[in-house]
Amino acid sequence: MLQRWGGASHRDPVPVIGPQASNRWSKASMTPTLWTRKVSRRASWRSHAAAVGRGRSRARVHAGRRLGCKSGGARRKDGLTITAFAVNHYPVFPAAGYRFDYRGRSVVISGDTAPSQTLAKYSRGVDVLFHEGLQTAMVSVLHDDAIGNGRPALAKITADIPSYHTTPEDAARIAQQSGVRYLMFYHTIPPLPLAYLNAAFLGDAPKIFKGPITVGKDGMMMSLPAGATAVTMRELL
Ligand SMILES: [Zn+2]
Repeated sequence: MLQRWGGASHRDPVPVIGPQASNRWSKASMTPTLWTRKVSRRASWRSHAAAVGRGRSRARVHAGRRLGCKSGGARRKDGLTITAFAVNHYPVFPAAGYRFDYRGRSVVISGDTAPSQTLAKYSRGVDVLFHEGLQTAMVSVLHDDAIGNGRPALAKITADIPSYHTTPEDAARIAQQSGVRYLMFYHTIPPLPLAYLNAAFLGDAPKIFKGPITVGKDGMMMSLPAGATAVTMRELL
C-alpha cells in the first residue's frame, strides 16, 4: 500500500478485505502517508497530495460477519471466488485463511495459524498452498541465545510463538494429505536473510511433501495461467 501511490498509477484506494479489525488496521498502516499529505497541502504540492491520497486503502469486512470465526464466507466477482475460513492463531483472534478459485486454478493462503484441519479441508487439490512456517529447531537456538544474553522479552516470545504457528514439516504433512500440487512458504520464522538457510528452515519438509516446495521471498510472483496446469515464477526484485 505504501508503494502504490509512488510506484504505480492506480486511481482507486487499495481494496482490503478481511476480518473485523481490518478497518482499524488499514487506517493505522496508512498513517505515515497521512502525515505526508499534511505536509503537502500547499498549492504547489497539491498533485503530490492527491497522489498520496490514491495510496489509501479501503477496508471491507467480510460479508459483515464475524470474519474468521466462521468458515465458508465466499465472495464471487468476475469469475473469481474468494472463500474465507477460520484458522487457529490463538491467542490472536480471529484469524482467517483464504482460498481463491479462478477459471480452474486455485490458491490457498494460510494466514497465521497453528496446524489447521480446516485449512487442510479447504486446501484439497489446490494448485498452490501458500503456508506460513516456523522452524522450531531454529527458534529454539534464538531462545537459548536470548536467555544467555539476558533478553527476557525475546526469550518469552521465542518460547510462545511455536504454539501458534506451523512447522514446515507439519505444513508439508497438510499439503501432502490434501493433495496440494505446489507448496510455497511465506511468513517464515525466523526470517531468512540468505537462500542457503532455506534447507535448515525446511528441515524434513521435502521428505514429507512429494511436490515442489519454494521458500518465498519478497518480490516473487507466481502465475497460474487459466486452462493450464503450469505454475511459473518470476522474481521481480
Ligand atoms: Zn505470525
